[in-house]
Amino acid sequence: MKPLSPVEFNLSLLEEGFTAQDTVDQTIKDCSMGDDRDAFYVCDLGDLVKKHVRWAQALPRVTPFYAVKCNNSASVVRTLATLGCGFDCASKVEIQLVESLGVAPSRIIYANPCKQASQIKYASARGVQKMTFDSEVELLKVARCHESAQLVLRIATDDSNSMCPLSVKFGATLKGCRTLLRRAQELSLDVIGVSFHVGSMCRDPSTYTQAIFDSRCVFDMAEEFGYKMNLLDIGGGFPGSEDVKLKFEEITAIINPALDKYFPMDGGVRVIAEPGRYYVASAFTLAVNIIAKKVILREQSASNDEEEEDDEASEKTMMYYVNDGVYGSFNCILYDHAECLPVLHTKPKPDEATYTCSIWGPTCDGLDRIAEHCTLPDLPLGDWLLFENMGAYTVAASSNFNGFATPEIHYVMSRPGWKCMQQISTRGMPAPVEEAGPACVAASCGRESAVDLPSKHCQNRVV
Ligand SMILES: *Cc1c(COP(=O)(O)O)cnc(C)c1O
Repeated sequence: MKPLSPVEFNLSLLEEGFTAQDTVDQTIKDCSMGDDRDAFYVCDLGDLVKKHVRWAQALPRVTPFYAVKCNNSASVVRTLATLGCGFDCASKVEIQLVESLGVAPSRIIYANPCKQASQIKYASARGVQKMTFDSEVELLKVARCHESAQLVLRIATDDSNSMCPLSVKFGATLKGCRTLLRRAQELSLDVIGVSFHVGSMCRDPSTYTQAIFDSRCVFDMAEEFGYKMNLLDIGGGFPGSEDVKLKFEEITAIINPALDKYFPMDGGVRVIAEPGRYYVASAFTLAVNIIAKKVILREQSASNDEEEEDDEASEKTMMYYVNDGVYGSFNCILYDHAECLPVLHTKPKPDEATYTCSIWGPTCDGLDRIAEHCTLPDLPLGDWLLFENMGAYTVAASSNFNGFATPEIHYVMSRPGWKCMQQISTRGMPAPVEEAGPACVAASCGRESAVDLPSKHCQNRVV
């Protein structure tokens, strides 16, 4: 195999002792020499490598198929391809992107239950077999366009506890599954498994347990129609940063025992997942520049008769205008319910006064607001604000509305990260470190629950 080159990944290797944060600082320094202070990203591709290792440790039975829609930058997709991930593609163009990086069609799942016929034909021509469905009409289409498809039945989940529910749009009910399986059988189509997506930013991990249990029911149901299914796809929704209520390992501590219970290791079922934000969220830091500012005096806005009079800080509020907004990178605020709060690039002095302020994007639309309330010192024009955890659903859906370009992305990786990626790509994942934690939790959960579903009591103990 030919050795990997950083050039292919469009990345700079960091010198020893340097971090992605140093690249942010250096880029700011370089920009500040001239007038050009465009917003920019720094992406630490080494963070993806770390996430991959963490995945293998937390979910050793589950192969990740990265959801390309979350961030389709070529460097990200190439890094994940090198690490051996599979890919969840939802369209012809996403399939083309992944193929162009040399990924075999067997590593792709066309995970869009409602596809255009011509794109199904494309998948067929390219040898992409695995694809999801949740309706009879889709089955008829697949029968016409891709006879040898390996179909995966997408089921609905109870996503009432997720920030971004998906079952309003996709997923068959358990009752509907019977009809669909019968129809697939009549059409002589192959159904190889079940998929679900609990919705993104799920706040109740028992949703996964229920969905895994429901999947088991569908596997059993499929046997009545002569299908011996062998693929379970547990979807996405795993958090990609640490600023969340429910941590990744808290979720996996619920998933693993459920898998072992309903899909035991020796049952011949391969388990995959479709993580998106998990891999990319924390790798990207966005730096934006303050291009305009308004100071609003208290008298002008609200009454100032009450308790805060003595405090000088309360006498004015600020409006900062920066050079990226909700029509650009911050579309995640509208589409992904993200909350974005800045970190100051220049650290404030300990006694520096702070003010309530709002942060606005550069377009002429009133909707273009990044933060309604935050507390910052009095910042001059030209200062930089940093936004961390900006890798998921940001650049992917960013527009150039009003003539504002998508920020440039600087890709970096540490040398140890680079070495680790090379090792994984040539020799596979290092054997997971056996720790007592998760395995013990799994065992105790299984023992205590007599009923089919682990009881609430048991789940609480697991968390
Ligand atoms: C969007 C999507 C994902 C990824 O969701 P994340 O919350 O980013 O993990 C996975 N699978 C399907 C089918 C999706 O639509």
